[in-house]
Amino acid sequence: MIRDEETLNLLLAGVRRFVREVLLPQEQEVAETDQIPPAVVAQMRELGLFGLSIPEAYGGLQLTMEEEVLVAFEIAYASPAFRSLIGTNNGIGSQGIVIDGTEEQKQHYLPRLAAGDIIGSFALTEPGSGSDAASLRTSAVRDGDHYILNGTKRYITNAPEASIYTVMARTDATRKGAGAISAFIVERGTPGLSLGKIDKKMGQRGAHTCDVIFENCRVPAANLIGGKEGVGFKTAMKVLDKGRLHIAAVCVGAAERMLEDALRYAMEREQFGHAIADFQLIQAMLADSKAELYAARCMVLDAARKRDQGLDISTEASCSKLFASEMCGRVADRSVQIHGGAGYISEYAAERFYRDVRLFRIYEGTSQIQQIVIARNMIKAAQG
Ligand SMILES: Cc1cc2nc3c(=O)[nH]c(=O)nc-3n(C[C@H](O)[C@H](O)[C@H](O)COP(=O)(O)OP(=O)(O)OC[C@H]3O[C@@H](n4cnc5c(N)ncnc54)[C@H](O)[C@@H]3O)c2cc1C
Repeated sequence: MIRDEETLNLLLAGVRRFVREVLLPQEQEVAETDQIPPAVVAQMRELGLFGLSIPEAYGGLQLTMEEEVLVAFEIAYASPAFRSLIGTNNGIGSQGIVIDGTEEQKQHYLPRLAAGDIIGSFALTEPGSGSDAASLRTSAVRDGDHYILNGTKRYITNAPEASIYTVMARTDATRKGAGAISAFIVERGTPGLSLGKIDKKMGQRGAHTCDVIFENCRVPAANLIGGKEGVGFKTAMKVLDKGRLHIAAVCVGAAERMLEDALRYAMEREQFGHAIADFQLIQAMLADSKAELYAARCMVLDAARKRDQGLDISTEASCSKLFASEMCGRVADRSVQIHGGAGYISEYAAERFYRDVRLFRIYEGTSQIQQIVIARNMIKAAQG
């Protein structure tokens, strides 16, 4: 749903300009230094990019899902690390509070997240539980007005920068599975919370992950999201449904960038006395990429509109994430191929993007997990 076409177009044009004029020229530096310059972060704040999906009542832009994916298409045209920095505040690092938080929790945290004054992170994965997230072992034991958390969370995006962590922990040690999991907001600086060293990743330099470790970490009971035990896994899944659609949109934006770069290169590079774009085998790679990209874009927009209508989009979000992330991988591969040797050399964006986009098939549910969700929903629906 688009609320006001004119306002949205202004926002999209502003983001597009920011991407072209500010982000693209700094991509290489970010890749080399593994840091996004503070001046760029300040400009992201000014543009409101940290609060795209946070309600206006708490200082955000309250974009609908359709509007949000349109913005994501634009931002993802630049290196994924830039999107990653704003990604958690708009997605997994804030939506638990937006969707299920108490009024006090919303008022306390959302305005600062929306402004980008603080960064939020989402801590579900553990060393022993990834795809099987419901088997997580981090414990939260009630002790008066507090819960005492123990456990380790792994690969947590923006954890080194974050001021708050949405942490899924088991509040009933006697029960296995999702029903005993609760979600907490844990503030950085809480005694007993520490961070591991920053992970060395395959790509997305400038975006950081690390372990978040809880050792007898005392968290106020008021920070239990929604004030209710046992519903934290449901909160996490609601957050991920939206997150998967957002990542699918990011895959579309990144693929558009890679395809434009590949097309430009193909038209400039000459072999056998012709631009390589004249060769039909190169054209096949360009055309297949274009067709798949168009399909993914249509899927993402359709799923976003359905979510805006209040429909359950669990299947559509997983279909979009599965198809768009796999499409993005194929486009990345073809982009390197079209660049030939230059595609293997790190001066070119093709090489960097090839590594950066590999992550999209893994996090917020691997491709296999999306397949499982889709098939499970199909079978459930058929059973009536
Ligand atoms: C850079 C990065 C950032 C991340 N950010 C976050 C974050 O902010 N917060 C967070 O909580 N987590 C985060 N993660 C974790 C991420 O979500 C998990 O890595 C992912 O869900 C996969 O879990 P795993 O790594 O344990 O793999 P595993 O679950 O061990 O999977 C290994 C392989 O087995 C397959 N597999 C597993 N189960 C099945 C099955 N039933 N059927 C078929 N195949 C199966 C998987 O698809 C995969 O191919 C991040 C990870 C990375 C790398």
